[in-house]
Amino acid sequence: ATIPMLRAYKRRSTSTFRYLSTLILAEHEGGSLKAQTLNAIAAANYLGKESSISLLLAGSGPSLQEAAAHAASCHPSISKVLLAKSDKFTYPLAEPWAKLLQLVQKIGSYSHIISASGSFGKNILPRAAALLDVSPISDVIKISEPHLFVRPIYAGNALCTVRYVGSNPCMLSIRSTSFPMISMAADSKSNPAPIDEVDLSTIDEDGISKSRYIQQTTQESERPDLGNARVVITGGRALKSAENFKMVEQLAEKLGAAVGATRAAVDAGYVPNELQVGQTGKIVAPELYMAFGVSGAIQHLAGMRDSKVIVAVNKDADAPIFQVADYGLVGDLFEVIPELLEKMPEK
Ligand code: FAD
Repeated sequence: ATIPMLRAYKRRSTSTFRYLSTLILAEHEGGSLKAQTLNAIAAANYLGKESSISLLLAGSGPSLQEAAAHAASCHPSISKVLLAKSDKFTYPLAEPWAKLLQLVQKIGSYSHIISASGSFGKNILPRAAALLDVSPISDVIKISEPHLFVRPIYAGNALCTVRYVGSNPCMLSIRSTSFPMISMAADSKSNPAPIDEVDLSTIDEDGISKSRYIQQTTQESERPDLGNARVVITGGRALKSAENFKMVEQLAEKLGAAVGATRAAVDAGYVPNELQVGQTGKIVAPELYMAFGVSGAIQHLAGMRDSKVIVAVNKDADAPIFQVADYGLVGDLFEVIPELLEKMPEK
């Protein structure tokens, strides 16, 4: 009884998936693409050399045009930049952006749509997938074949291999820390991809105004962005207060590092929510991750276990963080951090 089903699947897979063309939902800021979009382009390149890659940029104002120029010349694998100019896309609201993806897919019939799995992609992709009647695959960390992917499950404690057998488009959100950032090739600047404006006259506006942008609050900081930093210094509940947490910030300052925190530290009000690392926070994979007074709960490990070198300081020798640490120090952070601050040279 399984043979006819297999045949049916094979027939569908060869006819539906013959041509690979990828659309990347691009994020831009201040006239250039965001780092995670460059990771998404790297991921799209894993789909195969014969796949063509288009980038979709939307928004309003002069910085959009600058970002489009950056997109067109950022890598030779980009074959086209699609530009959707409208005030509707000034802010990252899921409703209008999902309708835009639906329209662009109708015009371009892409085999794949990829976004980074940050808050922007996580907000838009599922809604767009519902409109397109396909099932998205989230948090992909490896592309083995054009329709075979690896993604973490159970807070990163197991890896699941998923084969996509649905119809086009195959929609993916990729974990940007798992893909290298593309590096600009010399010829891409002199030979930029064409920029085409999307005709928005037929966009389905039904339900677009269901949500409304109010404001965005961001923490002004000179420190590197947590998601892309080479070094992350994280503090846990053991810091005991916002005042004490400043020690972690000073250490980060000296090392040119980003500051991270556990959910317990965030919930206790020591630092703002955007610094949370973990399953329900940011996913990081820096070259060096230093954890002070962090127990190593699975939900925290889910956000940092792919770091290249992990250093943990905890006064409990049995703390689970030591199971993933490359270097561990059983000690009191209130002694260790001041000593590090004293002995480390000024930046
Ligand atoms: P604790 O577990 O209280 O650990 C404090 C550690 O500090 C202990 O190991 C202790 O030995 C050590 N310590 C105490 N004093 C000192 C000292 N003076 N010097 C050195 N060490 C000391 N957590 C996250 O971090 N990120 C998430 O995204 C996240 N998502 C979650 C999602 C869900 C659905 C749930 C249920 C939980 C989630 N959590 C998350 C919470 C998680 O389960 C833990 O409660 C949290 O990570 C613990 O934070 P902590 O390590 O700072 O605190």
